[in-house]
Amino acid sequence: MKKFLFFLLLLFVIYLIGINTVPQYIESQRNPVKLSAPYTVSPEAQALYDRLDFIADLHCDALLWGRNLNKRGDRGHVDFPRMREAHVALEMFTIVSKSPAGQNMQSNSEDTFDNITPLTIAKGESPWNWFSLINRTLSQSEALAEFVNNEGEKAIFIKTKADLENLIEARKSDKQVIGAMLGIEGGHAIEASLENLEKVHAAGVRMIGPTHFFDNEFGGSAHGENGLGLSDFGKSAVQKMNELGIFIDLAHSSPAIVDDVLEITTKPVMVSHTGVRAVLDSQRNLSDTQIQKIAANGGIIGIAFFGMAVGEPELPNIIASIKHVRDLVGIEYVALGSDYDGSVAVPFDITGLPLIVEGLMNAGFTEDEIRAVMGENVKNFFLKNLE
Ligand SMILES: [Zn+2]
Repeated sequence: MKKFLFFLLLLFVIYLIGINTVPQYIESQRNPVKLSAPYTVSPEAQALYDRLDFIADLHCDALLWGRNLNKRGDRGHVDFPRMREAHVALEMFTIVSKSPAGQNMQSNSEDTFDNITPLTIAKGESPWNWFSLINRTLSQSEALAEFVNNEGEKAIFIKTKADLENLIEARKSDKQVIGAMLGIEGGHAIEASLENLEKVHAAGVRMIGPTHFFDNEFGGSAHGENGLGLSDFGKSAVQKMNELGIFIDLAHSSPAIVDDVLEITTKPVMVSHTGVRAVLDSQRNLSDTQIQKIAANGGIIGIAFFGMAVGEPELPNIIASIKHVRDLVGIEYVALGSDYDGSVAVPFDITGLPLIVEGLMNAGFTEDEIRAVMGENVKNFFLKNLE
């Protein structure tokens, strides 16, 4: 009996050590930067950056790793102190609830071992989350609400147009106020239940990508096996998202889903983190025809910063992707969608955003165009389309 208790105690101690080291180790391995901070740019680029009043990013997965986002981190890419240092006005935090081991761009199966399960356990999350995608999702939603709450007056959880207007108003006198929005990568998070869709909406979710790395109840993933469009359930979920006011994010969707959503949605769509095929011909990237259709729908396209979206994760490739969308359909459709903390290597963390301004200036973008890309487009998109 004594031996058994000792064994249990030993397991518990190992678990405690694990939750304080394992997620940290995994995160530092999974989310590197090519250049470390601090980042310097020309005085002209810095001056323009300092004049921007609304900087926004459409995608980051910082909630996944269990890091305290109220503290400045020494790993990963995003937290509130670093957003503040970068004068960021709005960040979209996205929830990843399931991710296949050996994840790749070409073909993943729904049945492959899920990497998020051991991470959830190692983070010390409640056993209710260990094997439930919806519970994991709601728990990451609560985590964001708590981080925002801990920031006091300096952060706003943006769920409505009125919240966004409050943010814009607050930032007129205090540029340190940050807006946080919430999204989901992969509709499997709602476990094929429209009731769960209502639950995540109530928890603040305002954007959902139908699929992530594998095919699910909504339909086919860009990196799945079946290449299918929206299933009947997927169609009813899209309809329900339109009704509730949850934006549909076409990043990671099969081309057939992109077409199906554009066919039936009554609201403009988002592509929260993507590249363009004209710069990198990858199956997760948008073709020119898709970009044109998304622009015609009044949608918005966030350009990501990592390798599989833009080629080598380097500034010139990010700038080339932004430029391609501008040249093809117009400046108002393009935005930043970094994919910070998304298990990706990026050229710089969020405090390096002035480098984007410098890159755009060097590529001949006007100040108005730079303002648009850096955040005005996102602000206008949500002012127009958030309820
Ligand atoms: Zn993603």
